[in-house]
Amino acid sequence: MLFKELGLSEPILKSLEELDHKEPSEIQEQAIPMILAGKNIMAAAQTGTGKTGSFVLPMLEMLNEKAKPYAKNAHALVLTPTRELAAQVRENVHKYGKFTNIKSTVVYGGAKIFPQKSKLKKGVDILVATPGRLLDLVNQKAVKLDRVQILVLDEADHMLDMGFIHDIKKIIAMTPSTRQNLLFSATFSPEIKKLAQSLGEDIIEISAQSPNTTVTKIKQMVYHVDKNKKNDLLTHMIKDEEWDQVLVFSRTKHGCEKIADYLNAAGIKTGTIHGDKTQGARTKALREFKGKFFQVLVATDVAARGIDISNLPFVVNFDMPTYPNDYIHRIGRTGRAGQEGTAISFMSVDEHKFLRGIEGLLKIKIDQTSHESFKPNEKPSVGGRGKPRSRGPRGGKPSFSRNRRSSDSKPGGSFSKPGGSNSRSTTSKARSTGNSNLKSAGNSANKPYNKKKGSKPKTSWKKN
Ligand code: AMP
Repeated sequence: MLFKELGLSEPILKSLEELDHKEPSEIQEQAIPMILAGKNIMAAAQTGTGKTGSFVLPMLEMLNEKAKPYAKNAHALVLTPTRELAAQVRENVHKYGKFTNIKSTVVYGGAKIFPQKSKLKKGVDILVATPGRLLDLVNQKAVKLDRVQILVLDEADHMLDMGFIHDIKKIIAMTPSTRQNLLFSATFSPEIKKLAQSLGEDIIEISAQSPNTTVTKIKQMVYHVDKNKKNDLLTHMIKDEEWDQVLVFSRTKHGCEKIADYLNAAGIKTGTIHGDKTQGARTKALREFKGKFFQVLVATDVAARGIDISNLPFVVNFDMPTYPNDYIHRIGRTGRAGQEGTAISFMSVDEHKFLRGIEGLLKIKIDQTSHESFKPNEKPSVGGRGKPRSRGPRGGKPSFSRNRRSSDSKPGGSFSKPGGSNSRSTTSKARSTGNSNLKSAGNSANKPYNKKKGSKPKTSWKKN
């Protein structure tokens, strides 16, 4: 399938050619014609599958023919959960729209509001925003939403996780009811479906991959290791296996800094991004990581959401994610755009419960092992499942050496169809939500694993 067969015209095809996007990804193939036909859609689209292009490309096509935007108004509004994702979506609008006359801007908190207000003065075609800052700007009469024709809720699951539901509802109520609605979410919980249905009865569900699955080209492995040995194991693996670029996830901001201190002391250049840092510092750290000034970036879940680093080979979960959903998003930072990737999770005895939650959500078993030199000594508590399962296909010590990765992955390559060893079978579907038979993780996707039914989760979700 070619992009031009999807109904995109010359200025957009030209930018795709320049970006070396040879053929549409599955989600693009499905979403673009539907969006161009004016349909309302909810799409199960994981990060790294080309989901941004699947709404940005048709939006550019539709808006390119439109009259100039009105002062302080926008024709299309894209809401994202994080500043990083907002900035990235805007960057995509810029790249894909290089040969169009589309005007766009991005607004998010943590940055000065005045420059954002002045950019909105003349109005824009596409406004990308985080919900809180958008409402501030509306309250300060810097922008009006009553001419929005297309509304995109990107990473809707994250927006709900982060408690944006009331802001989103307020924003939706300010837009015309005749707008086109596009909702994207990696996971479909009942809450997401409820939100989608509130957008309109006629919303069509599309799914290039079953929701709640991980990107299929990612190799996944769990390492059993004592908590107090995780820093040493990480340092050893980075050095021994010559990892040149690795994104490490820590559950807490404090943890990020501790890991970074340890790695820096070991001579591995490391930066951090988390909610205690200013937006400027976060942007700088990300830029420096992308530019390979840092070998390692340590991030909390929220700070890392939506970030797109091309050809990132390794993701390490220093802590097992509390929420199974976060596992999908964390490891989705690698294996993007059809490239290979490796995701390694360090699991101490007290974290086995999180693995069970993840495997339950993904409906797969993740290979487990331990490192020769870092065999765990900590014993699981009675009833715990501490014994490493030896399911590794390689038998002995698995190696994720950068040098041993296959050489067939090339930058700017095309998306491969799903079907890796960790994947469930996938189908391309397009149907209305009314008779959906999509398997969903239900509530479990958004909730941390919890031993006692009904008891409160020990670790609460914090915005960071
Ligand atoms: P996304 O899932 O939108 O975050 O996109 C992940 C990465 O895939 C980004 O770096 C995009 O530039 C890239 N990408 C998107 N669409 C295509 C395509 N059709 N062919 C090759 N790369 C793509």
